[in-house]
Amino acid sequence: MQNARAVIDLRSDTVTRPTDAMRAAIAAAAVGDEQQREDPTVNLLQERAATLLGHERALFLPTATMANQIALRLHGRPGDVLVAEELSHVLVYEFGGAALHAGLVTVGLRGSYGRIRGEQVRSVAARSAYDVDQRPAVLALEDTHNSAGGTVWPLDELDDVVAAAREAGMAVHLDGARLLNAAVAQGLAPSEIARRCDTVTLCLSKGLGCPLGAVLAGSEALIERAWREKHLFGGAMRQAGIVAAAGLHALDHHVDRLADDNARARRLAEAWHAAGVPIDLESVQTNFVQIDLAPLGLGRDEALERVRAAGVALSATIHETRVRAVTHLDVDDDDVERAIACVPAALGARASR
Ligand SMILES: *Cc1c(COP(=O)(O)O)cnc(C)c1O
Repeated sequence: MQNARAVIDLRSDTVTRPTDAMRAAIAAAAVGDEQQREDPTVNLLQERAATLLGHERALFLPTATMANQIALRLHGRPGDVLVAEELSHVLVYEFGGAALHAGLVTVGLRGSYGRIRGEQVRSVAARSAYDVDQRPAVLALEDTHNSAGGTVWPLDELDDVVAAAREAGMAVHLDGARLLNAAVAQGLAPSEIARRCDTVTLCLSKGLGCPLGAVLAGSEALIERAWREKHLFGGAMRQAGIVAAAGLHALDHHVDRLADDNARARRLAEAWHAAGVPIDLESVQTNFVQIDLAPLGLGRDEALERVRAAGVALSATIHETRVRAVTHLDVDDDDVERAIACVPAALGARASR
C-alpha cells in the first residue's frame, strides 16, 4: 500500500505550491503597470519588505538570483574583486554571473558552517597595497548558508566580518534568500540582521511558499540604481501584483510558521541520528538536514534511489558524499514521522554504529 501514498518530497523548500489562501490573495490582487511603478500591490510589498529588512527601500524582482546579480553590479566595477565563502550560492549556483554581469573577479574563502572570519577578509584586502591595485569591492555573505546545510550567522561573527569589509572599503551584500529561517531560529527581527549590510536579498519562493519572486533591499540611492539594473536584466514587469500578492500573503501568514519547518528538521535530524544515520547535528540549525553517506559506504545516486523507493525524495548537495532533506510548507508532522521510520533502513543505517 505504501506506493499508493505520495512521495514525501524533502528535496527542497522550492517545491511548495501556493496554498488555497495564497491563490485567493493572488486572485484578489489590485494591479497596475509595475514598470511605471503603478502596481499598488508591488508597491505595498516593497514597502513591507523594506521595513522588514530595516532598509530605506526594496525592489521586487522575479528571482533571488537576479537580486544577487543586481547587487553585485551596484557594488562593483568591472575588474573589481568579489569576496565570498567558497561554496556560497553567488559563487557556485549563479554560474559565472558575477563575471558575466558585473565583470567581477571572485575570491572564494574557506568557511566553517558557511561563515568566514574578519581576518580572512582582511588578508584578502591586504593584497592590494596601492589604490590602483585590483580592488576588493564587494563582500557577499549568505544567511542561511545553503551549501553548509542552512546554517545561521551569530550576530557577533557577522559584525566581525562586516567590520573587516568596512575597514577595507568594501560594500557588503547579504544573500538572505532564507534570511527569515535564520531570524526565526535566532529569535531576531530580520531587520536586526539585514540592516548590518548595504544590500540584502530575500527569496519569496523558498520557505515562504510563493510561486516565484524575491526582493532586494538597500538605501534609497542604491535601490533607485537597482531599478535601472532590473530593466537592463529584462526584469521590469507589468501587472506583477499578481505575484507580489503572494509575497504579501506570505509575509502575513508564512513567517512565524518557519519555526515549524526548523523544528521538523531538528526532529528528523535527531531521530535519524539516533537510528545511526550519519548527521552532523551542529549543522542542523534551520530547515535543512545533511546526511553524510561516506560512513554508510553508499554512493549518492544509489542512496537517493533507495530512499525514493521507500517513499521519500531527498536531493544531492554540492558535497559529493552528502544528500539533504529540506522541510517546508508542504511537509507536516505525519510526513516527518514516516520519513523517520523508513529512511534509516533504506540507507542501511544501524543504531549501534
Ligand atoms: C535559492 C537561492 C538563491 C536564488 O533564488 P532564486 O529565486 O531561485 O533565483 C539565492 N541564494 C540562495 C542562498 C539560495 O538558496
